[in-house]
Amino acid sequence: MKSKISWAEPYKMKMVELLKMTNSKQRTKAIKEAGYNTFLLKSEDVYIDLLTDSGTNSMSDRQWGAFMTGDEAYAGSKSFYKLEKAIQQFYGYKYIIPTHQGRAAENILSKILIKKGDVIPGNMYFTTTRLHQELAGGQFFDIIIDEAHDPFNEHPFKGNIDISKLDKLVKKYGAKKIPYVSLATNVNLAGGQPISMENLKELRHYTKKHKIRIIHDMTRVAENAYFIQQREKGYEKKSIKEIVKEICSHTDGATMSAKKDALVNIGGFLATNEWDVYEEARNLVVVYEGLHTYGGLAGRDMEAIAIGIEESLDDFHQHARVGQVEYLGTKMIEYKIPIVKPIGGHGIFVDAKSFLPHLNQEQYPAQTLAAEIYIEGGIRTMERGIVSAGRKSNGENHKPKLELVRFTIPRRVYTQAHMDVIAESAASVYDRRKHIKGLKMIYEPKYLRFFQAKFETIK
Ligand SMILES: *Cc1c(COP(=O)(O)O)cnc(C)c1O
Repeated sequence: MKSKISWAEPYKMKMVELLKMTNSKQRTKAIKEAGYNTFLLKSEDVYIDLLTDSGTNSMSDRQWGAFMTGDEAYAGSKSFYKLEKAIQQFYGYKYIIPTHQGRAAENILSKILIKKGDVIPGNMYFTTTRLHQELAGGQFFDIIIDEAHDPFNEHPFKGNIDISKLDKLVKKYGAKKIPYVSLATNVNLAGGQPISMENLKELRHYTKKHKIRIIHDMTRVAENAYFIQQREKGYEKKSIKEIVKEICSHTDGATMSAKKDALVNIGGFLATNEWDVYEEARNLVVVYEGLHTYGGLAGRDMEAIAIGIEESLDDFHQHARVGQVEYLGTKMIEYKIPIVKPIGGHGIFVDAKSFLPHLNQEQYPAQTLAAEIYIEGGIRTMERGIVSAGRKSNGENHKPKLELVRFTIPRRVYTQAHMDVIAESAASVYDRRKHIKGLKMIYEPKYLRFFQAKFETIK
C-alpha cells in the first residue's frame, strides 16, 4: 500500500480527555520533587505522556460499546468464544487461553515447555519473557543479527535472526535441549525493528529439520507486518491481514500482550497448535489466572480484545500508526536531533550520548535529558541507559553502550500537532544543550532501580 495519501488517521474523535496545562516553573518544581525521575511524576502533571505504548491505547466506540455486552459468566462466557474465534480467524492458531496480560502467558508457557538446563535462543531478550524462561530453568541466548546492536545501522530488518548463531547453539547443546526458538516480531528492545518474511521462512526451514518449535512473541506483529508490506519484495500488494496470518503460520504457538497492538488497556493470551500443550496450559491457568475461559479477564475485556485485534489489522490503521511515529522521527532528524535509525514502529529513541557529549556516563545523560524534555514541554519520556541497566553482582555499574531516551507513542491517542510540540520541545532543549548539567543519584533502590531512583542536579 505505497499510496500517495498521507498517513492521516482513519477515525475521528468522539470524546476527549482534558489535560492540565502547566508552565515551566511548575514543571521545574514537579520534576525536582520527583527526584528527576519521570516514573515518579504524577500523570496529572504531564501534558504528553510517552512513557510507554503499553495499555495506553484509545479504544474505539465499537470496543466501548462491546464493554456493555460483555458476558460475565464464570464459565463458558460468550465473550470468550468471540475472542477465540477472532484469534483463530486472524492469527490462525488452533487453541487459545486468555491471560490477564502478556507475562502471565509467558509464565504458563515457560513452565510447560522448558526443563532445567534447556537453552532458549531468541532475537534479543525482552525483560519479562527472559525472566520467565530463566525461572523455568532455561538459559536465554541472543541470536539476533549483529546489526541490531548498532543504533545507526540502517538495515531494513534489524529484527532478523542470524541462523548461523542458532546453528552454533544446536551443535553445542543439541536440538533436544532447545524446546523452542523465542521469536519476537517487531523487536521491542531493538527499538521496534522488524523481522523479514524471508528470514522467518529460513528459520522455519531450519527448525523443522531439527524438530525445534518456534514460539512467537506476537505483541507487535501487526506493526511488523506493516514494515514487511512497505519494505519486502513480493508483499507490496498483500494486506496486513494476509501478512500477519502468514507470519503466524510459520510458528507453532504464541504469547501476546494485548496492551500493545490489540488496542486495549489490559489483557493477553497464549496460543498453541499442539493439543498436549493446550491441555497442560488449561490445567496451569486455573492455578495462576482463573478458569480457561476467562484467564484473569472480565468478559468485557475479552470482547474489547476481539474487536481490537480486527481493528489493528486494518491497513489504514497501521499506516497511520507507524506513519505518526515516522512523522515525529523525520521532524527530529530535520532538527538535527540524533535518533536511532531506521525509525521503529512504536517510538523514537534519542541518543543522549551524542545529544549531551559533555556529560560522562556517570552523570546520567539519558536521565538528565528525559528530565529536561519534561521541563521544556511537559512531555514524559523514559531513560534507557546506565540507570536502567543497573549493577552487576560485584556492585559495579553495568555500562551499556547505548544511553537512550525513549519517546513511545500510544496508539490513537495524540494528534499531529502533539507530534510537532514534541519535536519542537526536543529541539529547544537541543539549542540549549551546552548549558545542561548532569545529575547525581541520591537514592538507589535495590531492584530495578530505574523505577524509583532519585537524583539531584550537579551544581
Ligand atoms: C509488553 C511486552 C511483554 C509483556 O507483556 P505485559 O502485558 O506487559 O505483561 C512481552 N513481550 C514484549 C515484546 C512486550 O513488549
